[in-house]
Amino acid sequence: MTLAWKLFFSYLIVVMVGAGVVIISTAYTAPAEFSHQMHAAGMRRHGQGRMEAGQDLLIDELNADFRKSLNTALFRSTGTAAVAAVVISFLVSRRITKPIRQLSRASQRIVAGSYTEVLTPHSQDELGQLVRSFNQMAANLSQTETMRQHLLADVTHELKTPLASINAYLEGLQDGVLPSDAETFQQIQQEVQRLQRLIQDLQQLSRAEAGQLHLKQETCDAVAITESVVEWLRPQYEEKAIALNTYLPKKPIYFQGDSDRISQVILNLLSNALQYTPSQGTVTVQLTSEKQYLHFAFQDTGIGLSSEMLPFIFMRFYRVDKSRSRESGGSGIGLTIAKYIVEAHGGQIWAESAGLNKGSTFHFTVRQQNFSKT
Ligand code: ADP
Repeated sequence: MTLAWKLFFSYLIVVMVGAGVVIISTAYTAPAEFSHQMHAAGMRRHGQGRMEAGQDLLIDELNADFRKSLNTALFRSTGTAAVAAVVISFLVSRRITKPIRQLSRASQRIVAGSYTEVLTPHSQDELGQLVRSFNQMAANLSQTETMRQHLLADVTHELKTPLASINAYLEGLQDGVLPSDAETFQQIQQEVQRLQRLIQDLQQLSRAEAGQLHLKQETCDAVAITESVVEWLRPQYEEKAIALNTYLPKKPIYFQGDSDRISQVILNLLSNALQYTPSQGTVTVQLTSEKQYLHFAFQDTGIGLSSEMLPFIFMRFYRVDKSRSRESGGSGIGLTIAKYIVEAHGGQIWAESAGLNKGSTFHFTVRQQNFSKT
């Protein structure tokens, strides 16, 4: 039996029980009360304790007439009430179960793969809340499905390009079009390394997305970590003639977390700054301690980001200029992994830019440890 019918019958049973109680109690109490009132009226007319001859007979007759009219009235009104109860119960039960029926149909469509379900909540009660939660669930499923499809397409695309290059080099070597010298083999090796980097990034990304980024919990000095990454990259900055300035606190600043992962985030941001800043530009690294957080900022005078790009750059495989990034080995995963790492350290990562060719600043924070180590 459907929920609507169950509700319908339950209303009907309640109405019938109520009507039954009204009929029985009226049938028992009304004639007795009527007779009592008649006697009382007769006595008032003829004095206390006295009744006119034949008056009892009249009262009995009146009683019988009253009972008959009462029964007729009860019979008719019960019939009318029953019809009204059936119609109203039917309409009310259908109305209450309407959102449930809609939800049921919509979930069937989701099972069949259609995630674009949006139902209109018609009330503010629990059912309205259920419809809103359902819409939210459908939206999340739709987003996950879209991301899954994009991920598959992106991974395929990213793997195809270096493999096609390797294939072209090998064909060139086989046909004798390319010389089998060190340079050719180096080109092939570069493509292989690109594939290796991509696979490493993908492994990390999948671990991060599954919440399985295993972070070490050690006491780290943010100043030392930043300095070591800066010094490691300095030769590449010098080679490209980009000034790399640092504004770091003189004393160590500690936080609890994974120094290798935070180094990876800094390396990613500084490599990007190097990559997207033309020669003669400047990159500035700043580290400040703010209440409970450490604040890292990486400002560059590079190609900048438009306001349309800013919301997307932390999304996986997002690259503003796909061809150029691929040339330099970027797959558009670095910032996504950085975001997971930073968030796992209780911090946030974000980017600011005044617009294209106006430079950009990448910020991230990590939760600071509440003690000072000497
Ligand atoms: P990639 O490996 O392609 O650099 P990321 O995830 O690190 O991937 O960066 C995503 C995209 O964000 C880059 O392809 C680039 O378009 C943009 N981006 C990152 N850093 C900068 C920067 N400092 N200046 C301008 N654009 C940047």
